[in-house]
Amino acid sequence: MTETNRKLLRFIDASPTAWHACANLISRLREEGYTELRETEGWDIRPGGKYYVCRNASSLIAFRVPEGEFPGFLMMAAHLDSPLFKLRGKPESPSAGVYTRLSVERYGSMLCAPWLDRPLSVAGRVTVREGGKLVTKLINIERDLALIPNLAIHMDRTANDGRKYDIKVDMLPLFGSEKAAGRMEAIAAEAAGVRPEDLVSTDLYLYPRTPGVCFGADGEYIAAPRLDDLQCAFGCFEGFFSAQPGKNAPLLCLFDNEEVGSTTKQGANSDFLADALRRICEALGRDFYRSVSSSFMVSADNAHAVHPNHPEYADSQDRPVMNGGIVIKHHANQKYTTDAVTEAVFTEICRRAGVPVQHYSNRADLRGGSTLGNISTSHVSVDSVDIGLAQLAMHSCYETAGAADTDYLIRAARCYYESGFRRTAEGIEL
Ligand code: ZN
Repeated sequence: MTETNRKLLRFIDASPTAWHACANLISRLREEGYTELRETEGWDIRPGGKYYVCRNASSLIAFRVPEGEFPGFLMMAAHLDSPLFKLRGKPESPSAGVYTRLSVERYGSMLCAPWLDRPLSVAGRVTVREGGKLVTKLINIERDLALIPNLAIHMDRTANDGRKYDIKVDMLPLFGSEKAAGRMEAIAAEAAGVRPEDLVSTDLYLYPRTPGVCFGADGEYIAAPRLDDLQCAFGCFEGFFSAQPGKNAPLLCLFDNEEVGSTTKQGANSDFLADALRRICEALGRDFYRSVSSSFMVSADNAHAVHPNHPEYADSQDRPVMNGGIVIKHHANQKYTTDAVTEAVFTEICRRAGVPVQHYSNRADLRGGSTLGNISTSHVSVDSVDIGLAQLAMHSCYETAGAADTDYLIRAARCYYESGFRRTAEGIEL
């Protein structure tokens, strides 16, 4: 396995929820001397400085300020959340007089079948009473804790003929015997280091315990939970992190809640990015409007590779393959923000970085999904391109992607951040 994939899979394993992903990236930023800015305080920002701000502890913006004059911001965006099952407020439900199940509801739209018959655990955040205050803590019960058992083929002979999953019936994980009633809260309290009576509230999610692997005749694929979109988040982060100073201010935004439409206070459809840019400009004595007009956004969210068993779902021409390089996404009705100008900028960046590009459009009669770019640019209107890495089984709890593609994204991201992007009356300099 390559060093990049080893690091990516370690990051994914350590990031069962957006909060954990955010905390893991923040600890890297801190190690490298980034200064935290809090939205509740004044922002002291200096030329040459490097900073980050987070909202809800699950969305993150990191940026560096060049030493001298600079035209605008070179931005990349990805998302940190993935479809999961959330534990309900009263997390347990008895069954058949001999079992305790966890009671869950859906977060985002997942493929249900892959969640069955595999070890699951629970992670998230809890609010506890500590020293007279309400304190929020991240927890991860790092052991096999629950499992959603299939019904045997003998009891449902139609199981292989297309199954309809009823979340309130089929997707409740087995958590223990009837004696396990009340144990979930006790386990969460113990993980948070408090007494059960001091556990006030929880945001807890099921996650699959299966670790990521590299597979294929020549190890050409990786499989792991949450590749959409932690693979892009990781690739953008590594490119941002390792880029040498360019002519603009490099900025990375990693949002929560893309899987549920981004309309939360910390999602791409919030004022988080616009507020941050305004406050950065204010602190540096810059004109916000001129800065934004001189900026550029790359929105990175994984794309569908042509499927080995179902190539008919792909467009006849724009059908990306895994390990084929970065996917540029197109949509005539602008669910993807790519246009001829922004495609040209990003293609040129990839050409310089020696990174192949390929193209994706939905099959013309299929609706397709949505992503961050057009939501985010409705708040901060900048030229933007939608990209991603090709993968299979999007929104399964165990997805497959190309082993070579994360490195391509890191290289392209680095080259983008180091570029001399500037608009002039005659055209765009890079
Ligand atoms: Zn995504």
